[in-house]
Amino acid sequence: MQQALSYDDVLLLPQYSDIRSRSEIDISTDLDKGLNLQLPIISSPMDTVSESNMATAMSKHGGVSVIHRYNTIETQAGLVSTAKNSGTMVGAAIGTTDDYLNRAVTLQTVGVDFICLDVAHGHHILMKEALRTLRKKLGDEFHIMAGNVATLAGLNDLADWGADSVRCNIGGGSICSTRVQTGHGIPGLQTIFECAKTDRNVKIIADGGIRTSGDIVKALAAGADAVMVGSLLAGMDESPGKVFEEKDGSRWKIYRGMASKEAQINWRGRYSSFEGVSSRVPYRGPVSNILQDLEKGIRSGFSYSGSRSLPELQAKAKFIVQTSSGISESSAHITGRTW
Ligand code: IMP
Repeated sequence: MQQALSYDDVLLLPQYSDIRSRSEIDISTDLDKGLNLQLPIISSPMDTVSESNMATAMSKHGGVSVIHRYNTIETQAGLVSTAKNSGTMVGAAIGTTDDYLNRAVTLQTVGVDFICLDVAHGHHILMKEALRTLRKKLGDEFHIMAGNVATLAGLNDLADWGADSVRCNIGGGSICSTRVQTGHGIPGLQTIFECAKTDRNVKIIADGGIRTSGDIVKALAAGADAVMVGSLLAGMDESPGKVFEEKDGSRWKIYRGMASKEAQINWRGRYSSFEGVSSRVPYRGPVSNILQDLEKGIRSGFSYSGSRSLPELQAKAKFIVQTSSGISESSAHITGRTW
């Protein structure tokens, strides 16, 4: 049986570097058809992460948001329009059934920069039909993101059906219970290693399970063109939802999977099978602090591999597998000493 690795299982080998300053490093990524990001981070289409305020902040820092689809077409179009007023680059999610075509056309009319076909199991006949229909309707020059898939076969099929970029990883999100509920999925980084073997002209988005700038560097080095993150950007001023305070003074915001019972009941009044959980995360203030820290960490990561750009990082990167003692050594592990 094949062994599958995830973020904690590997490290990148530090390499000789002639980079004198991290400002020499270009961490931008070109996802094609106008989707050029200075910061290779995309915020997830989730109702506790991506609405207008997050989109504006992400775009300001060189990343981009995908506005979630758990609302009416008018509400979602309004969120896109609000974000667009300040010159923001923004995407928006749609499904593959019901109103998806009207939604896509309306979003295009209000100026959305790309759409994202957002379903849990993207390697599916409904995805094939929707992608083919949308490609004809929206035109060849419009960027279509789609997902999620876990395999190279899935990535290649979505590319052949019309996707320009594909969200890769099934079951790896921090609020995801797909692997527990269904027994299916592949550790997130392995999916990227596999998908990077594609011979199609398609961009790879490493989605879910990314907790640190180190994870971002590993995903990019393994072959991703950008990462998509939810929990890293939850609990911020710009994330939708109220801050609530506990008696001990700690402050929190809700972060929940879009397939959790809570989210389903909220957006469609009932739930079917659920594959996500609802949780709370500490309130952490403005997202700019986090984005600046992530950017610094990514630049530093490129520098440890002696790389000035994403293509250089991907060409040079050397991964090693670490043992469980290596994993403990790799995170802060100071123990109290009493002498
Ligand atoms: P995180 O960055 O680890 O928090 O993962 C965010 C990603 O989890 C999203 O971009 C989606 O791909 C995925 N996701 C969101 N909601 C759910 C859910 O309810 N179940 C499974 N996966 C989810």
